[in-house]
Amino acid sequence: FNRIIKNDIRCCSGRAPVRKCLSKMSLYPPTKQKGEFSNCKSQSLFLYNDILFPCHSGAYNYLPLGLRALEKLTRLIDEEMQNIGAQKIAMPSMIKASLWKRTGRWDTPELFKLKDRHSKEYCLGPTHEELITDMVSQFGMIPYKRLPIMLYQITTKFRDEMHPKYALLRGREFQMKDMYTFDTDEVTAKETYERICDTYCKIFNRLELNFKKVAGATGNIGGTLSHEFQLPSDIGEDTIYTCNQCGFGSNVELIDPIEVESNNVSCPKCKSEMEKSSGIEVGHAFYLGTKYSSVFNVYYGSRYNEKILTEMGCYGLGVSRILQAGVEVLSTDKYIRWPTLLAPYQVCIIPQMQGYASEEFLEISNDLYDRLSGLPNLKNEVVIDDRITMTVGKRIYQADTQGYPNIVVVGSKTLKEPRMYEIKTPKISSDSEYLTLDQLIDRLS
Ligand code: ATP
Ligand code: MG
Ligand code: MG
Ligand code: MG
Repeated sequence: FNRIIKNDIRCCSGRAPVRKCLSKMSLYPPTKQKGEFSNCKSQSLFLYNDILFPCHSGAYNYLPLGLRALEKLTRLIDEEMQNIGAQKIAMPSMIKASLWKRTGRWDTPELFKLKDRHSKEYCLGPTHEELITDMVSQFGMIPYKRLPIMLYQITTKFRDEMHPKYALLRGREFQMKDMYTFDTDEVTAKETYERICDTYCKIFNRLELNFKKVAGATGNIGGTLSHEFQLPSDIGEDTIYTCNQCGFGSNVELIDPIEVESNNVSCPKCKSEMEKSSGIEVGHAFYLGTKYSSVFNVYYGSRYNEKILTEMGCYGLGVSRILQAGVEVLSTDKYIRWPTLLAPYQVCIIPQMQGYASEEFLEISNDLYDRLSGLPNLKNEVVIDDRITMTVGKRIYQADTQGYPNIVVVGSKTLKEPRMYEIKTPKISSDSEYLTLDQLIDRLS
């Protein structure tokens, strides 16, 4: 009996958490990636810094650092979506053809189609309007008090893109957050629309990304009102026009081609001349009206017991595209600069470990690791780069290129009292500072 208890104690709480040392983590030292023809900055940075590994056209493996960043972005989006009352679900990737035939979208060229052994046809979902509307219709008539319904998922989407390009920016399978809303009438549906657009703005602000919200074309998703969220960038595949006078912006798709040809596009709101730029589309909001609810019969019961079609909206965020586009716009050619909230780890500790006193450097680093990871904001956010085969200079350079927001070097100044730790915060300054342990903890907490 005693022995069992003891064992239990040892299993549950007796073991110290494992320190994250790069020398013991797989996929380090960096794999040498060759062969991939990369033609944008963030793609090269992701390949050369072990964030992604190419698989086949339009598909990439996420290596440990890449997946951590993606999961952080997913959590941030979850938090913001749930703050406005949206609920998370997950729908299958395989969608039966009959649903897509009902809306007339089965012939969309981007659909990946497949058949099962009984010759039943399916597609791999590029978006889920059909599936969700069909599901919600099966709940029966929704009491008006239950609206709005806001359901979202973050899952892999599949599109047979004509030209997969720039790694995660245009993949053939990619992560998307797609949300679908059901409201009583146009007024409430548009209120929901505004609330979600505001939340998208909040997300991009939290990610330190300068974005433009522009009127967007409704394409084959349909509907009458739509906005796109664009990150201005030279490599963006979209052309957008913005007005510096009144702030209005629009995708070129909505502008009269004759006006575009002349290149003298005037703002439809204030008539000033609009400025042309390229952007990466990172989010898209659509007010759908009853386009899908009328096909699948999604009704609500009004307070007077009338049976009325619900008004829908759908809202996409290109999660994996945001991950790379954020790095594309914040980085230099050589150094990854993450939106700070997405950096895979917040702190990298680099012990000098060469020649004399290497044991001491490692011990001081381990103590520092324990102190820092004990801080609530740094739990699971610290690594030690203890790869003795690499010079300290090389390790600092790599930590800088991989974009750790904080790099702490445990060098000779930590051997005498008062111990001074060298800290680099590359996004803020290229200089290092020397801090005592208390100052360092103060800085990082
Ligand atoms: P694009 O114009 O770039 O082809 P889209 O307008 O077809 O995008 P939507 O149907 O609006 O895309 O999908 C919602 C979001 O999903 C987009 O705003 C974008 O951020 C993301 N997205 C779309 N296609 C891809 C892709 N091939 N790879 C990565 N993300 C994508
Ligand atoms: Mg597209
Ligand atoms: Mg588009
Ligand atoms: Mg779009």
